[in-house]
Amino acid sequence: MTSAPLVAVVGAGPAGLAAVRRLRASRGVRVVLVVPGGLSEYLPGTLAVATGDARAARYRTRVQLAGVEVVSDRAEAVEPGALGTAGSWRRVDAVIAAPGLALHAVGSATSRSIVGFWDPTGAEAVAPRIGAVERGVVDVVISSLPYRCPPAPYGLAMRLARRARRLGLPLHVRLLTPEQHPLAVLGRTLGDALVAGCEDAGVEVRLGTLVDPDALAEGKVPAPDNGPDAADLTIVVPQHHASPLVADLADANSPLVPVDARFATEMAGVFVVGDAAASPTPGRRIPPHGRGRSPRRQCCPSSAHPSSAWRAPMRRRRPRRTASSTTARAPTGASRSPTPAGHHRKGGPP
Ligand SMILES: Cc1cc2nc3c(=O)[nH]c(=O)nc-3n(C[C@H](O)[C@H](O)[C@H](O)COP(=O)(O)OP(=O)(O)OC[C@H]3O[C@@H](n4cnc5c(N)ncnc54)[C@H](O)[C@@H]3O)c2cc1C
Repeated sequence: MTSAPLVAVVGAGPAGLAAVRRLRASRGVRVVLVVPGGLSEYLPGTLAVATGDARAARYRTRVQLAGVEVVSDRAEAVEPGALGTAGSWRRVDAVIAAPGLALHAVGSATSRSIVGFWDPTGAEAVAPRIGAVERGVVDVVISSLPYRCPPAPYGLAMRLARRARRLGLPLHVRLLTPEQHPLAVLGRTLGDALVAGCEDAGVEVRLGTLVDPDALAEGKVPAPDNGPDAADLTIVVPQHHASPLVADLADANSPLVPVDARFATEMAGVFVVGDAAASPTPGRRIPPHGRGRSPRRQCCPSSAHPSSAWRAPMRRRRPRRTASSTTARAPTGASRSPTPAGHHRKGGPP
């Protein structure tokens, strides 16, 4: 008797949860959901948390889904037919990866005038510093494109300006973006509405402002602070990069993974959905695994990845190659390390 095919879904954001929902509706498929800590975080809560109007816990929930095995861990590597978690490989028939996008670090714990975040957990860590600025200039800086939810930085700037106005604080809020026109890919209407909303709230919008994301990572504030209008606090929407899990499948000049109309990637049996995927291209042919960029591939966090948060766990939790359990097995080509060197971030456009 053959058992039902096993599909691993990685990530419990909207895309991963939607995938699980669809899979549960189909008969004869077993589903395992892999998500760090077993928790799902609702990203649109970021702004309310940043302005001190809510706690991050309000936007976090434990994932429990009838008929779905939830693995409270981070997926560390994927290859055709296998997913690496918690130091071991799990044999799967397909992987649907929905890890979203990852964020570059901004500044350091000691940099006082610059903060970076783009999720509720990150927002909570810096909310007291944002709330403490009661006069002067606050900059909201979009460090690079693309980033999650293009209107949201404008919304954050408007929230800050309205709060200052409500409290009677002498605070000037500026929004700095590299775009010549906000959300240009969506046409002019939405961008014009955002700029008008900012003007109404008293936010100064500085279009076409390029900043050096690497300098931001070191805690150096962008150019406008070198003068009389230096910001008292710079809030950075960090540079986004591909999730290390799928970075090797991403395009060279973008953090997004190319997919076809079925969300298939070039790796056999591996699909990418949600923010991590480029817009599916109808009719696009993704080179099938084995005839693509490399003859055999494996995707995993790079040992050379700039974020140490990804480096440390991989050193500690190296997927073992065991054949003894029903879920763990030696990955095909088992002599390869699960942390091959040279899987660098692809980087997005400036
Ligand atoms: C500030 C802000 C405001 C927003 N506001 C709106 C809005 O008003 N309306 C709207 O439609 N959209 C909004 N968005 C965008 C929306 O939240 C995203 O488009 C959406 O969350 C993307 O869903 P996703 O499932 O692809 O990725 P995510 O929501 O990022 O979820 C990724 C999931 O994968 C998990 N994960 C990551 N790596 C691994 C790994 N290696 N192993 C296991 N799990 C992993 C994460 O823990 C998470 O559960 C906003 C986003 C932000 C940041």
